Amino acid sequence: MEEQKKCSACGAIMVQDGKYCNHCGKPDGSIQYLLNHQSVSVVDIKMPFMSIVTFMVKAAIASIPAIIILVIIGVMVSAFFSSFLLGIFK
Ligand SMILES: [Zn+2]
Repeated sequence: MEEQKKCSACGAIMVQDGKYCNHCGKPDGSIQYLLNHQSVSVVDIKMPFMSIVTFMVKAAIASIPAIIILVIIGVMVSAFFSSFLLGIFK
Protein backbone atom coordinates (compact mmCIF):
# COMPACT_ATOMS: atom_id res chain seq x y z
CA MET A 1 0.00 0.00 0.00
CA GLU A 2 1.63 3.20 -1.14
CA GLU A 3 1.40 6.38 0.87
CA GLN A 4 -1.58 8.53 -0.02
CA LYS A 5 -1.41 12.28 -0.39
CA LYS A 6 -4.24 14.44 0.83
CA CYS A 7 -5.35 17.73 -0.66
CA SER A 8 -4.34 20.65 1.51
CA ALA A 9 -7.50 22.54 0.52
CA CYS A 10 -10.32 20.00 0.84
CA GLY A 11 -8.59 16.95 2.36
CA ALA A 12 -9.52 14.60 -0.48
CA ILE A 13 -7.04 11.83 -1.30
CA MET A 14 -5.00 12.88 -4.31
CA VAL A 15 -3.27 10.88 -7.01
CA GLN A 16 0.34 10.32 -5.97
CA ASP A 17 1.82 12.29 -8.87
CA GLY A 18 -1.20 14.52 -9.40
CA LYS A 19 -0.45 18.19 -9.75
CA TYR A 20 -4.03 19.22 -9.04
CA CYS A 21 -6.65 17.82 -6.70
CA ASN A 22 -9.19 15.85 -8.70
CA HIS A 23 -11.85 16.78 -6.13
CA CYS A 24 -11.61 20.56 -5.81
CA GLY A 25 -9.03 21.39 -8.50
CA LYS A 26 -6.62 23.12 -6.13
CA PRO A 27 -2.93 22.68 -6.94
CA ASP A 28 -0.74 20.34 -4.95
CA GLY A 29 0.60 21.79 -1.71
CA SER A 30 4.18 21.98 -3.00
CA ILE A 31 2.98 23.69 -6.17
CA GLN A 32 0.88 26.02 -4.02
CA TYR A 33 4.07 26.88 -2.10
CA LEU A 34 5.83 27.62 -5.39
CA LEU A 35 2.94 29.87 -6.46
CA ASN A 36 3.07 31.71 -3.14
CA HIS A 37 6.86 32.00 -3.42
CA GLN A 38 6.55 33.42 -6.94
CA SER A 39 3.90 35.90 -5.82
CA VAL A 40 6.32 37.08 -3.12
CA SER A 41 8.98 37.62 -5.80
CA VAL A 42 6.56 40.04 -7.52
CA VAL A 43 8.19 42.57 -5.15
CA ASP A 44 10.89 42.70 -7.86
CA ILE A 45 8.42 44.82 -9.87
CA LYS A 46 9.66 47.63 -7.63
CA MET A 47 12.83 47.88 -9.77
CA PRO A 48 11.16 48.50 -13.20
CA PHE A 49 8.63 50.74 -11.42
CA MET A 50 11.43 52.88 -10.01
CA SER A 51 13.14 53.02 -13.42
CA ILE A 52 9.82 54.14 -14.94
CA VAL A 53 9.52 56.86 -12.27
CA THR A 54 13.12 57.94 -12.94
CA PHE A 55 12.39 58.03 -16.68
CA MET A 56 9.26 60.14 -16.13
CA VAL A 57 11.17 62.56 -13.88
CA LYS A 58 13.90 62.86 -16.53
CA ALA A 59 11.24 63.41 -19.21
CA ALA A 60 9.59 66.10 -17.08
CA ILE A 61 12.93 67.83 -16.53
CA ALA A 62 13.74 67.57 -20.25
CA SER A 63 10.34 69.03 -21.15
CA ILE A 64 10.92 72.19 -19.09
CA PRO A 65 13.04 73.95 -21.80
CA ALA A 66 10.49 72.90 -24.43
CA ILE A 67 7.70 74.41 -22.29
CA ILE A 68 9.73 77.63 -21.88
CA ILE A 69 10.26 77.84 -25.66
CA LEU A 70 6.54 77.22 -26.25
CA VAL A 71 5.64 79.95 -23.71
CA ILE A 72 8.04 82.41 -25.40
CA ILE A 73 6.55 81.58 -28.83
CA GLY A 74 3.04 81.95 -27.38
CA VAL A 75 3.89 85.34 -25.85
CA MET A 76 5.40 86.53 -29.15
CA VAL A 77 2.38 85.34 -31.16
CA SER A 78 -0.09 86.91 -28.74
CA ALA A 79 1.95 90.15 -28.69
CA PHE A 80 1.96 90.15 -32.50
CA PHE A 81 -1.79 89.61 -32.72
CA SER A 82 -2.55 92.11 -29.95
CA SER A 83 -0.44 94.77 -31.72
CA PHE A 84 -2.16 93.82 -34.98
CA LEU A 85 -5.61 94.25 -33.39
CA LEU A 86 -4.53 97.52 -31.71
CA GLY A 87 -3.35 98.67 -35.15
CA ILE A 88 -6.82 98.00 -36.57
CA PHE A 89 -8.65 99.89 -33.83
CA LYS A 90 -6.26 102.81 -33.78
ZN1 LIG B 1 -8.98 19.30 -3.00
